[in-house]
Amino acid sequence: MDWTRSETLALAMHHCTQCRGSGLRLGRKNVLAPCNCVLRAIFRACHRRFVTCATQERECSRIALDPQLGRHRPLAWGRKDEEYLADFCLVSRRNLDDFEYRLFRYHFVLGADWKLCCRRLGLDRGNFFHALYRIERKLGRVFRELEPYSLFPLDEYFHGPSRFQAAAMTPLTVSPATLPEHLRFPAVAQIA
Ligand SMILES: [Zn+2]
Repeated sequence: MDWTRSETLALAMHHCTQCRGSGLRLGRKNVLAPCNCVLRAIFRACHRRFVTCATQERECSRIALDPQLGRHRPLAWGRKDEEYLADFCLVSRRNLDDFEYRLFRYHFVLGADWKLCCRRLGLDRGNFFHALYRIERKLGRVFRELEPYSLFPLDEYFHGPSRFQAAAMTPLTVSPATLPEHLRFPAVAQIA
């Protein structure tokens, strides 16, 4: 995936000393890479949505009908909120090592504060926050670059078009010769 400024600009911190608010910085081998402030903003947006889905009343969760690829089953029922909760946890489990996942689970899933996490994991405050920022950066990138369906942007995850819709919405290219007579522009010589 290529990160562009149009994607990172709105997520970047204006006073960031690394990217100066653009969201991109020059990485190794002179390749543009997303700044840490952008990756952390992505993770925090996904985590906010996770908390909202996990704490809402059960009646608020709705069944959604999603278009799918395939001839025999073009539509499928799903519970987006529950799917999102599962994706958030499973993707994190796959991409963190054991120590990081324990911290992730205590702090982000179970809601323990830094003092409780430090006591449980045997960390001091500095190491706790270093590990926390590392997890946010790592998962922010994973949530955005995940294929075929990324967790971020969230509106695309919950309401966005599937590949089936995107293919159907591709504009057709029509050559003038195939247009009906009444839709063609008159030739310049005839106007003169
Ligand atoms: Zn930055």
